[in-house]
Amino acid sequence: MIPAMRPVIVAGNWKMHTTPAEAGELAATIARRTNEPDVVRVLCPPFVSLAAVRDALEAEPGAGAVAVGAQNVHHETTGPYTGEVSAHMLQGLASWVIVGHSERRRDAGETDELISRKVQRALDTGLRVILCVGEQLEDREAGHAADLVRTQVRGSLDGVDVAAIAPLLTIAYEPVWAIGTGRHAQGSDAAAMAAVIRATLGGLGFDDRGEEIPVLYGGSVSSSNIGDFMDEPSIDGALVGGASLKPDEMAGIVARAGLTARARAQR
Ligand code: PEP
Repeated sequence: MIPAMRPVIVAGNWKMHTTPAEAGELAATIARRTNEPDVVRVLCPPFVSLAAVRDALEAEPGAGAVAVGAQNVHHETTGPYTGEVSAHMLQGLASWVIVGHSERRRDAGETDELISRKVQRALDTGLRVILCVGEQLEDREAGHAADLVRTQVRGSLDGVDVAAIAPLLTIAYEPVWAIGTGRHAQGSDAAAMAAVIRATLGGLGFDDRGEEIPVLYGGSVSSSNIGDFMDEPSIDGALVGGASLKPDEMAGIVARAGLTARARAQR
């Protein structure tokens, strides 16, 4: 049973790709090619391209609303943090933020404790959060994937006000071994992990045992495999990396997500 309020979401993470000029042009093209009013679309360019993407999307009113997201946010509000960007600075530029992406866990040593502070900063400013969790290949092979994801969900939300974050929270299950590798999880694996995530949220006090929180799948999503995930009632869309830089791919992914969104609306 899918709560009526759970949206279908496709978010594109452009990582460290695109100059501001390229990003504006790409955002406008994707907005035009993915005009599916039933799908929540979010584009997450690099920080330096946020303004260009916001402006380009505002100039495409016929393409419907596409939201802008940042790929990261600092865990403090202000201070001597060279090169960092606070949640407050994102206001007017982004309404979403990706937190805890595995590339930041890997490259910037982000821990669950630090990530929970980032979630809190996002909450303070009303940013919608895409919280990324997911196991390494070793964890999966050792049969520890669910434990690992449970620990990440609990740790990343530790101390955060559950009632306040609930309307702003989306979780992306992104197995690390599937990110940028061309090797994606099975839809059934993603669904099993969505159940683990929601059970964990329920244990943290989220209403309706976490059923109201959207769970996305991420990891080598493309127009040819998105259907495997959208066929799972517990999966509410995708966080897309490499394919989100390709308008044809995004058009196919969002079109398939739109079929699910419309089918859900008719229930
Ligand atoms: C991501 O960056 O979150 C991601 C899932 O990347 P890719 O789709 O390229 O695997």
